[in-house]
Amino acid sequence: MTAGFYPLPWHEGALGPLLASRSRLPHALLVTAPLGTGALEFGRALAGGLLCEGLKTDAVAGACGQCPACQWMQAGNHPDFRFVGLDGEGPDELGDAAAEPEESALASSREQNVSPAISRGKSVRTRPEIRIDAIRSLGDFALTGARRSGQKVVLISAADRLNAAAANALLKTLEEPIAGMIFILASEAPARILPTVRSRCVTVALAAPSNAVAREWLLSAAGLEPNAAQRMLDAGGGAPLTARAYTDPIRYEIYQSAQSAIASLPDADLLEVAQRLEGLEPLLWVNVLQRWVEDLARVAGGIQPRSKGTELRQLTSLAARSNLQALLDCAQQLLRFRRSVDHPLNPRLYAEATLRVYTQAFRAAKD
Ligand SMILES: [Zn+2]
Repeated sequence: MTAGFYPLPWHEGALGPLLASRSRLPHALLVTAPLGTGALEFGRALAGGLLCEGLKTDAVAGACGQCPACQWMQAGNHPDFRFVGLDGEGPDELGDAAAEPEESALASSREQNVSPAISRGKSVRTRPEIRIDAIRSLGDFALTGARRSGQKVVLISAADRLNAAAANALLKTLEEPIAGMIFILASEAPARILPTVRSRCVTVALAAPSNAVAREWLLSAAGLEPNAAQRMLDAGGGAPLTARAYTDPIRYEIYQSAQSAIASLPDADLLEVAQRLEGLEPLLWVNVLQRWVEDLARVAGGIQPRSKGTELRQLTSLAARSNLQALLDCAQQLLRFRRSVDHPLNPRLYAEATLRVYTQAFRAAKD
């Protein structure tokens, strides 16, 4: 999809009030959203709206898309805008960062042009990070005056991936606000951001869209049939941008291999399943596992799970073999494992230990 500095449908309600008070916004905003639902897209729509010179005030507030500022934004050369992201990530690649953890795993597998099943044993790529040079490069931008409307905007994608040096450099900048300059930090994993950085920002916490809204968007954004759209949404745990990434057959195949490996437990041999997962980037399958456990807990608690279709039957029979408390404990423990997901010392042992937490939820229920 081409660049659009327009809000996603489920973000329109949150964007309007911010733009309406755009001359009085704090100097640093932290935009957070559930994984795969578009924190960066919102940041981009906000940046576009802040710089737009013909701001719309009608039903759907946002950038006009026609003024010189909007045209520069679309061309990626507005003089009062800077984007800081991961290597290879651009401000106009809508959606790519939103599904980021899985995307990087998927991209990695694609670069190697191997199917996930045979990538086993390859070293797992280190997670990319934002380095200090990227923050230092904003120095000149901060010193020069705004060229157009008086406001300068810096959008930082995946703010949770600032490494320690970059985060500290940013912190210094945030501690001494520069008149007319606003920082928008976007993150779908805000708990990973340095608390001192977080505390310097005013948080804008976005909600995930309903299934109906997500599906409707997916129908038009990816041109899918309703059933296919729902299948992708299920795969993405209800997150529309993750779902859209899964419309790529290679990506979907990787998801499926992680999903089927996890769903084969607790009956399959844990060590064999760990071996199957080892070749995938841990963040990918840990996400799938977390969603799976959350859905199991929903079923055990009598709530509709996010997954539908064929997985529903499996969830129902598995949930009956565990119980709500055991599954909630499991979900809690998985959060801990999630924290060390970036750099597991030994991917195989990490997979085994994580899966053991999952299978424990079934043993605990029996005891
Ligand atoms: Zn405009």
